[in-house]
Amino acid sequence: MTFGLNKLSGFDNHKLISFVNDDNVGLYGFIAIHRGNNEFPAFGATRLWNYRSTNDALIDALRLSKTMSYKAALAGLKCGGAKATLISEGVSVSRNKFLKSYAEKVNYLSGRFITGADVGIDRGDVLYMRRFSKYIVGVKVDPVRFTVLGLLSAIKACSKEVFGSVSINEKSFALQGVGKVGSELLRNIYGKAGKIYVYDIDSDRLKTVLREFPRIKVVKSGEIDQLKVDFFAPCALSNCINSKNIKKLHAAVIVGGANCQLETDELSVKLQKKSILYIPDYVANAGGLVSVYDEYENGNLRIKRIEKRVKRIKNTVSKLIKLSKKNKTSPFIEANLLAESIIKKYE
Ligand code: NAD
Repeated sequence: MTFGLNKLSGFDNHKLISFVNDDNVGLYGFIAIHRGNNEFPAFGATRLWNYRSTNDALIDALRLSKTMSYKAALAGLKCGGAKATLISEGVSVSRNKFLKSYAEKVNYLSGRFITGADVGIDRGDVLYMRRFSKYIVGVKVDPVRFTVLGLLSAIKACSKEVFGSVSINEKSFALQGVGKVGSELLRNIYGKAGKIYVYDIDSDRLKTVLREFPRIKVVKSGEIDQLKVDFFAPCALSNCINSKNIKKLHAAVIVGGANCQLETDELSVKLQKKSILYIPDYVANAGGLVSVYDEYENGNLRIKRIEKRVKRIKNTVSKLIKLSKKNKTSPFIEANLLAESIIKKYE
């Protein structure tokens, strides 16, 4: 028997897909649990975005939750992957009522779904939701700091591979999106890197970062991904590398915080053919997940332990590059194979 949902792009025999709805507060969205069970809860942050349709929100939840399983597997964490995508257009009453209602929905899953902040949700929202649900994480730690620590670790491994040294001194960067992750990455590279180009669809965000980092160069819409830079760091939404822009990409390395950067898996091969080193998003951006997993599993949060685990991302990236050279594939294909072999063990 076939149903419509399991034919959707991104569906991968997910454990559970829940429609979350509360008309009183304008809550509409989905929680998708890709892998996980009673022993291994599924982790994945909550995204609040202006989706054009419920279908778009659902497909994003399916793809992002699968990515979270792969991320957890390669980061060596005993958890499955999940994601929530909420439609921002529906938020009809006060934000706090909306967040409370959502946190209560999370409670229905009794700890099989652990969540925190993704696009459109900030730390203040997380702290508020935590008042209503113990399954909200990113309370004792701010995962963004660790996401960026991991990104820097991945950038170093790529720099060593492509430029012969881990140093980012004088390297040029293009940052797409300067929200939580993008602006924290900017803070860390500013003053060390060479030219830094930036773009965000939110002009207020751009003004804010320009005030703090006056030597960045803000580019026009549609330009940031096409610059001839050493590093292109996507830090916004899904599908930023797609069939429309693939021919126009000119960075030496693509490594960034955004999840699901590739519109289709085949694009990793095209990037390889263009001699662009592409590091799978879920490998490079795993630092935040490592930190909230630690917060949830170990009441006795130890920052040093988290930092040590996050810095291992550099080794994973180097290993994937090595494997891809040996097997004449791409780091993306190697990462998928490794993640799938790990996930199979606990399914
Ligand atoms: P955020 O909401 O704080 O920032 C996203 C930014 O991207 C916003 O400023 C938004 O205006 C901008 N943006 C949206 N569409 C854009 C476009 N087409 N071009 C340029 N800018 C655009 O979200 P965030 O937490 O910084 O997350 C950014 C990405 O990193 C997401 O894909 C998220 O899933 C991923 N990620 C985040 C974390 C984390 O710790 N927050 C961890 C791992 C991965």
